[in-house]
Amino acid sequence: MPVVKSSRLLLLIVATLVGSAGSAVAHETTPPEIVTETRVGDDGKDVLYMFIDGVKVHETDPAKQPPPPVVAPGESAGDPPSDAIVLFDGTAESLGANWGDDRGGATKWRLVDGAVESVAKAGYLQSKREFGSCQLHLEWASPSEVKGDGQGRGNSGVFLQGRYEVQILDNFKNATYPDGQAGALYGRAKPLVNACRPPGEWQSYDIIFKRPLFGADGEVVRPAIFTVLHNGVLIHHHVELSGGTGWAGPHAVTPYEPHGDRGPILLQDHGNPVRFRNIWIRELGD
Ligand code: MG
Repeated sequence: MPVVKSSRLLLLIVATLVGSAGSAVAHETTPPEIVTETRVGDDGKDVLYMFIDGVKVHETDPAKQPPPPVVAPGESAGDPPSDAIVLFDGTAESLGANWGDDRGGATKWRLVDGAVESVAKAGYLQSKREFGSCQLHLEWASPSEVKGDGQGRGNSGVFLQGRYEVQILDNFKNATYPDGQAGALYGRAKPLVNACRPPGEWQSYDIIFKRPLFGADGEVVRPAIFTVLHNGVLIHHHVELSGGTGWAGPHAVTPYEPHGDRGPILLQDHGNPVRFRNIWIRELGD
């Protein structure tokens, strides 16, 4: 019989967050359960075994430790990998199949050279499918002809679950309030750096989003969490969103409001002809 010395490490971290309405809400993270045992090896010496969530460290039996699925990456980092849902590939078919306006009709945004361009007063571009936690890739370009300044230059935005905005704006040598510049979680968190390319050039966002979780009474159990790369540069690292990102006057944004597990991807019509291409998404667990 092996000598068994078992210890069990179970931690419950309760972090207190200040909710957008000023109330305190708790969120919980349960770390993996780690169990250790000492067994006597074939040579008579003790061998330490660790089990993480019931699986032995360096387990080689695929029945006990299934290997991750194989995914073929795209040729370049921005290309959709084999398990991505392609939401826009530059074609009219792709646009019509996956997108409409935000009023339930066909979009009036226009196709230009394999990109889809925002049309003023045409409303937002809204994905027909809805998503929760996800990895989203998209590419955008603000107009090469520079007009306006501040929030008026190349403004659009991408909304997760139809409501949480990552700002799109031409901030190449164009100042605005930092929590509203390109890559900002609008009104809530400024990007770590300004990684903007010049107007007219294609830029990428890679967004890793975990949806917020709500309790039975609509309270925030876990806030939304964003990790974002702009042109491959990290601009948000596991940022917990402190509330909603909707406009609530010049110096306020909306609070969290409970909503469903899924919502559409929205691209904003802010009156400026911003173009988009190569949009794909991978669904993630919560
Ligand atoms: Mg915007």
